[in-house]
Amino acid sequence: MDWRFHLNSEEILAEVAMQTAVCTRCKLHHGRKKSVPGAGDPQARVMFIGEGPGFHENQQGLPFVGAAGKFLDTLLEEANLDRNSVFITNVVKCRPPGNRDPVTEELAACKPYLERQIAAINPDVIVTLGRISMSYYINNGKISAIHGRCYWFNGRLVVPMYHPAAALHQPSLREVVKQDFAKLPGYVLKAQETRKNNPDLAAMCQPEKDENGPDNKPTEQLSLF
Ligand code: URA
Repeated sequence: MDWRFHLNSEEILAEVAMQTAVCTRCKLHHGRKKSVPGAGDPQARVMFIGEGPGFHENQQGLPFVGAAGKFLDTLLEEANLDRNSVFITNVVKCRPPGNRDPVTEELAACKPYLERQIAAINPDVIVTLGRISMSYYINNGKISAIHGRCYWFNGRLVVPMYHPAAALHQPSLREVVKQDFAKLPGYVLKAQETRKNNPDLAAMCQPEKDENGPDNKPTEQLSLF
């Protein structure tokens, strides 16, 4: 018998954390001080996926603890979400040198860890933070056009958002990001209700209809890697 079938979500997350700490599946491990598997509630209804650990995250082994993390805390607070009640992770668990974008091989190497985390937590809503994690779900999306909208993807609402660091560098984005975060409590209710009452709809990979959106063209929802 495979005892892994008996692991609960907390145990699976702990196993993923142990695996990422010693992982050598890509070159990023050379610069690793600590892997950053993610942190938060193993039963979270909302999961945030960023790009990759930065300097401070690599030192501490925790996601979003630098300047972008402070802004993320503000955004969560304003949306009435407690950091401990959500789960925050990244598409890669080790720091890319100089905070460059992770490359295709690194994303592919880390994908099984993220997939296992998503399956274990089973969130209603996944928020992708930034272009790289958006492309995990939406192949040809332009973040400036689709940020804050929601898309069904395999039974979960996926909401692409700007990365908090982008809003720090570009103050005009701050209000935009705040407005997108303010939609989250409503998206959670919508996702929970639809998953319960209309699982066929939730299982679709279709953009959710957005009455306010001028150009809600179907987006090709294919994974890049
Ligand atoms: N930026 C990210 O994308 N992730 C972190 O954990 C920190 C900064």
